[in-house]
Amino acid sequence: MHRRARVLIVSGPSGAGKGTLIEGLLRRFSFLTVAVSATTRPQRPGEVDGREYHFMTPDGFEAAVAEDRFLEHVVYAGHHYGTLRSEVDRHLALGRSVVLEIELRGARAVREALPDAVSVFIEPPSFEELVRRLKGRNTEAAADIDRRLEESRVELAAMAEFDHRVLNDDVERAVEELAAIVDAETRMEHA
Ligand code: ADP
Ligand code: 5GP
Repeated sequence: MHRRARVLIVSGPSGAGKGTLIEGLLRRFSFLTVAVSATTRPQRPGEVDGREYHFMTPDGFEAAVAEDRFLEHVVYAGHHYGTLRSEVDRHLALGRSVVLEIELRGARAVREALPDAVSVFIEPPSFEELVRRLKGRNTEAAADIDRRLEESRVELAAMAEFDHRVLNDDVERAVEELAAIVDAETRMEHA
């Protein structure tokens, strides 16, 4: 099937399951790719530079900002994160839809810059379950978890501004729902 190449924003609090659901989505749709963001946060065990993120020093990040290489960039929980224009442009040019896994302020900036982008908010079943998942992932120190939960309260309050919301109760079910959204939003209507 022929598909429209679109930018798909996937947002939601840290620990809601964005990465998990996107993984399921990529397995299903070969026309989708994920834009690899740049960040100054420390690399987690198992992460590969250029795969999960382009890991940068604060100086390197600042230089990239000065060169206008970012579509959007923010400070989140004490570290810089940004969507590289090159990541988005090269996939769209190949006719592939691009998933941006970004936080709230980035989602707002991309919506502003690219009004055709579709935005999806991944909603955790409850704040308590979000805390459980974030702690259970075991990737951040306690102080970092607290900073992420602070950000989460603001993000949860803004979920109504997204085009779609997907409740991540059960992974399989939520991937199914997300896939149905992506399918509908990239379908070409034939004349
Ligand atoms: P995010 O990318 O939004 O920060 P992750 O995808 O890393 O979130 O998920 C956070 C943690 O919760 C991970 O340990 C993941 O395995 C787990 N998780 C994700 N979805 C579910 C779910 N539906 N039920 C239970 N645990 C989940
Ligand atoms: P993490 O450190 O857990 O990988 O990501 C922390 C938060 O930053 C997540 O909400 C993630 O979606 C967001 N994020 C990752 N890359 C970008 C980016 O390029 N821009 C913005 N605005 N947020 C990002």
